[in-house]
Amino acid sequence: MPSYYIWTIGCQMNKAESQKMADHLETFGYQVTDALQKADLVILNTCVVRQSAESKVLGMLGYLKGMKNQKPDLSILVTGCFVDSDIEQLEKNFPHVDLFIKPSDYIGLCNWAERQSPVITEDIVRLPSNHEVTVSVFIPIIQGCNNFCSYCIVPYRRGREMSRPIDEIASEAIELAKHGTREVTLLGQNVNSYGHDLPVPSDLGDLLSELNHIVGLERIRFLTNHPKDMSRQLILAIGSLDKVCQHINLPLQSGSNHVLNAMKRGYTAEQYRHLIGNIRRQMPEVALSTDVIVGFPDENDEQFKQTLAMLEEIRFDTVHVATYSPAQVPLRPRSIRIIFRLR
Ligand code: SF4
Repeated sequence: MPSYYIWTIGCQMNKAESQKMADHLETFGYQVTDALQKADLVILNTCVVRQSAESKVLGMLGYLKGMKNQKPDLSILVTGCFVDSDIEQLEKNFPHVDLFIKPSDYIGLCNWAERQSPVITEDIVRLPSNHEVTVSVFIPIIQGCNNFCSYCIVPYRRGREMSRPIDEIASEAIELAKHGTREVTLLGQNVNSYGHDLPVPSDLGDLLSELNHIVGLERIRFLTNHPKDMSRQLILAIGSLDKVCQHINLPLQSGSNHVLNAMKRGYTAEQYRHLIGNIRRQMPEVALSTDVIVGFPDENDEQFKQTLAMLEEIRFDTVHVATYSPAQVPLRPRSIRIIFRLR
């Protein structure tokens, strides 16, 4: 039986997608190994949101090049946000990689696996995840992002928003609950946009209501939100559904309107403050976390102090802080056009 090893870096979405890839590979007869050096197939599930992440990916690609020299039968697949639209250029730059797959392209992975060892092919892409079902599981509900925050590469790599149908997500959650999962975390770059692109438009509140009925499921979480898209109906739904955890991660990014505007975030500090007021009125016990970027290009001391003042005023339960730094472009030819990224 051929063995596989999946190396994952980045957000929860990548972790969830690695799990899904593992499920598909096992359908084709692959068996997981805990040591990269022992694997017949290595998949790199990559992230380039931060410079340090891209450097690690390049380091792994260099390491695998040496490994393939020693072991020519080794198969190397690369997926995740490192894979841009210019796959031809990637193939020229990294000829030791067998296949570059766009993020969440399970069909591409299955087609490749089928060519290597055709075992089972029927409807595998739609099978619910059943590999090592655990108490808490991530479920991607929407891919891509329609916002173009000026510092973020995600829309360029993951494309525009694409929601999974409610019944498909519900079936997966029912199956997971039957096998012992008690908590699901719904994932998306912007879960507040969920459903607008479905044939019958719906929203995250509709999905939460549907999942709230599932027998065996006890807790439902969701990540991550966008302040400009968090509607009043959604806040009401979160507050009224007993299985939905009253924990909201609402990225602030900056307390300065000037910086928010430069980031193209689509809201002001006042609108953000107003939204927090609405959430706390509806859910007095809510746990709030946020993300903040410091050192955005041209941010001055006064603007930084405005962010600090917002943090002191709102008193979040958790604050995730990232510093900003110029990317060391070009790390690879025809890399990205974004000049600054999170470190
Ligand atoms: S909303 Fe999030 S994923 Fe979308 S562009 Fe902005 S930071 Fe990136």
